This record gives sequence, structure tokens and C-alpha cells, in this order.
Amino acid sequence: MPLFAQFSHASPFMSSRLPKILLVDDTVANLQLVSDCLIKAGFNVLAVKSGVQALKTLAITLPDLILLDVVMPKMDGFEVCRRLKSQEKTKDIPVIFMTAVADRANPSYKIKGLNLGAVDYISKPIQLEEILARVKTHLKLRALTQQLTEQNTCLQQEIRVHHQTQQILQETERRWRSLLENVQLMVVGLDWKGDVEYMNPFGLGLTGYTQEEVLGKNWFNTFIPSSEQQQLKQIFHELLYHNSHTYYQHFILTKSGEERLIAWNNSVLRDITGAIAGTMSIGEDITQRQAIERMKNEFISLVSHELRTPLTSMRGALGLLKMGVYDNQPEKAKRMLEIAAGDCDRLGRLVNDILSLERLDSGQVTLVKELCDVTDLIQHSVEAIEAIADAALISIRVTPLSAKVYVAPDTIIQTLTNLLSNAIKFSDSNTTITVSVQHQSDSILFQVTDQGRGIPPEHLERIFGRFQQVDVSDSRQKGGTGLGLAICRSIIQQHGGKIWAESTLGSGSTFYFTLPANKASVP
Ligand code: ADP
Repeated sequence: MPLFAQFSHASPFMSSRLPKILLVDDTVANLQLVSDCLIKAGFNVLAVKSGVQALKTLAITLPDLILLDVVMPKMDGFEVCRRLKSQEKTKDIPVIFMTAVADRANPSYKIKGLNLGAVDYISKPIQLEEILARVKTHLKLRALTQQLTEQNTCLQQEIRVHHQTQQILQETERRWRSLLENVQLMVVGLDWKGDVEYMNPFGLGLTGYTQEEVLGKNWFNTFIPSSEQQQLKQIFHELLYHNSHTYYQHFILTKSGEERLIAWNNSVLRDITGAIAGTMSIGEDITQRQAIERMKNEFISLVSHELRTPLTSMRGALGLLKMGVYDNQPEKAKRMLEIAAGDCDRLGRLVNDILSLERLDSGQVTLVKELCDVTDLIQHSVEAIEAIADAALISIRVTPLSAKVYVAPDTIIQTLTNLLSNAIKFSDSNTTITVSVQHQSDSILFQVTDQGRGIPPEHLERIFGRFQQVDVSDSRQKGGTGLGLAICRSIIQQHGGKIWAESTLGSGSTFYFTLPANKASVP
């Protein structure tokens, strides 16, 4: 227990805002003198007269500073200091040794004290002013140290938060970058002038440019077809300053000069001050989708027209019969039935042709190829069509060739039959159709030549399209569907060959097609 304790306020163990000093000295007179002085100066003082009592007191309360006499019986000041510096709770409390001048003069003595963690020495006999001055200085120093430690802790906390934020930012950046680099969409960043600041790898692949070739280039002058540049610059301006046109589509030019239709989703970018910095756009290449959509619409309208024509004619013929218009004219009634039956057949052919063309073009037909003799293929085709040729008084001459092709035989026979059937349809009687074959460097060339009416030059390519006929009356008079050559082209292309026609109006036409030569069949 403390020998005596004097406090400026009620209890020694009450927490007080006044700095608390633990005073340790075995000389009662010194204790009295120093504590009076400190109390007067406004400190809380806890005074004890031995090292053991000092340690017991420290177990109960923690002072802000300790004034410690060095020379004391049983446990000297150095030992007290050593013990309290070894305790986490007490190690930071500043200790000032009070010692005789003669002892202080001994350097090893001084060093020992400082090594133990003391902050200062006060000489005996005691000078009260000196004690007060040193106590105040060290308390101030301690307060500053504590303040610094707290600031340091705060700073370290801030650094940790900053570090974590940076890691989160880096992770977010990594995710965005990986998204931009792998997404199958074009991503383009423009500055407010319309110069390219960013283009993702998909965009570079689609346009055929390298990063270096696009960065800094004006988007409109480089990537937009000249006819659309002016309009798109206007749209860009309106996007920047009125936030309109966030979605739109337009054609872009690739490096090779190809045009691709892109559907854009645009956002305006602003800098940290809120000023407009440019745009970021995500674009989907809809060229193919658009083409398929257009083809589908064209096909639907063509099919609905082509199917409706024979149906209307059939309905007309049957309507007349139903009304009894030809009840007394059996010959005319029979003619009406013939027309209806012909339209029925034509409708059937149309449906078959449409379906087989669709199956071919959509890849639903798997070509089961085998090695076939060229002359056999021609022979089969001629046999299939011979009766019609005979009826039309047209002769078919075949120039045989010893060669083999690796093909799906039924489809090649279908192609030859189509060409022969056309040749018969568009030739006069007593003419000849020639079928010949010849080797070319890496293919076999087939030719079907007639002496018929010929094809105008502007129709030579077009007739390979769907429902294309030179004369609109051909379908009715010749019973065709306008799909035969489209089917032939699809079959030949799927075999890796080409098909085309040459013709002289009034003299006849030749239809050619090639098939890749089977190496073993080339002599
Ligand atoms: P179609 O069923 O009408 O014959 P195709 O696609 O086979 O359909 O032929 C398209 C059109 O090409 C024919 O309607 C005809 O106008 C023209 N054509 C095809 N082959 C010949 C030919 N050998 N001589 C003259 N015109 C032909």
C-alpha cells in the first residue's frame, strides 16, 4: 500500500483528466516535498516508498509518468524499471530516475538506466522547478507520442482500406478486360471528336485492322461508307449532346472494303468533371441475320405467289364446272378438268421442288458419295428421259468417256435429268441434244447442248435463281416450276463444282457443270 497519497481530487483510483504521477522514493521527506509540489502544479500524485509497493500500485492503476528513486533497499529503481518495462501494460509509461549527482556522473550508471528504458534523470538533492519542468516535458512528449501512434494506426488503417480498394478495382478491371476481350461483339470507344480510342479484339478481327491501325483514326472517315458519313456524323453529334440515337444500325467498312451491317448500342462517356468525353458502343454484326431474314421474306412471298397461281387456275376451272356452265359441252368440260389436273400436277411438282431445294440448301441432305462411272450416270439420266424425248421427236446423242467421279449418284442423275428435260422442253422436234464429258486439269466437265430457242444473255445467270424463268408463260406452257436450275446449282455446289450456261438466241444453249476429278479416274 502507498505510505501516503495525496490527490487533488477525491479518490486515488478514480479516473481523472489530470495527469497521474507515480512517485517512488524511500526517503519520506523527499516524497512529501515532491508530491506537494506536483499536487500544487495540478497533478494527481500516487506516492509510495519502495519498489515492491510501486509494482503493486502499478497492478491496480496506470500512471502517466513515474518518478523513480534509484537507490532503495530490497528492490532498487533499476529493477523496478526493468520489471515494468517487461510488462505490455506498463512498458510505455515514461520513467524518470531520481538519483544523486555523484551517481549520475558515472557513465555506466547512466547508460544502465537509459538502457532499461528510462527517459530522463533528475539530480538529488531535489530541485522542484527542475522536477516540474521535466515532468511536464515528458508528459507532453508522451501525449505527442500517443497522438502520433494513434495517427499512425489511422494511417495504416487508411492504407489497408486503400490497398483493398485498389485490389477490388484491379479485380473489376480484370473482369471488364476479360469480358471486352472475349465477347463476340464489337466494342468501340470514341473520343468527342469521333477518333477511335479503343476497339476490342472481336472488332479488330471483324474489320481486319490491327490495334495500331485503328487507334487515333477518325471513325467516320475510316469505317463508314462515304455515302453515309455525313448523316452518321450528325447522329454522333446528337448522341453526344442530346443523348438521342442510343440504338441504331448502319454499315461499316472493313479493311478489305466489305460492308457489314452492325446494330449498335451506344452510351455517352463523361470525365470526372462531368464534361462529355466521348462514346462507348457495343455492336452486333447482323449482316448474316439480315440477309437470311431478307431471303426468308423473299422466299415466302415467292412461294405464296407461285403456289397461289395454279390454285387460282384450278379454282376457276372447277368453279365453271360446278356452276354447270359446260353441262351441255362435254368437250369443254373435259378440257376444264384437264386444266385442273395439270394445275394439280404442277402444284405437286412445285411442292416437291421447294422441299428438295430447302433440304439441299439447309444441309439436311447428306450426300452419300461413291465412286461412279461417268458414262453410267449419263446413261441412267438419258433412260429416264428417253420416252419424253421420243414423244417430242428429239434425239439424244451421248459421247461416252471413261472416267470416274466421287459423287452421290442420285443427285447427279437428277441434275442431268433436269438439264435434259429443259433441253427437250425448249427445243423443236427433229433436233438433237448432245451430252458429252471431258477431262479438265482437276475436274470433269459435263455439257448438255441443245439446238433449241436459246436464252437471252441477260438471263444466263439469273435462271439459276429460284422461280426465274425467261418467259412468264414458260411455267404454264412448259409445265416448269422455275426451281429446276436452282436445285441443279445447289447439288453441284455441294459437290464442290460449278454450273453455268452459254447460249446463242435462236441456235441453242449449252449447260456446263464440273465435278472434282477423282484422281484414280484421270488417265
Ligand atoms: P423450269 O422448271 O421453268 O424449267 P428451270 O429452273 O429448270 O425451271 O429453268 C428456268 C428457266 O430457264 C426456264 O423456265 C427457261 O426459261 C430457261 N431455260 C432453262 N433451260 C433452257 C434451255 N435449255 N433452253 C432455253 N431456256 C432454258
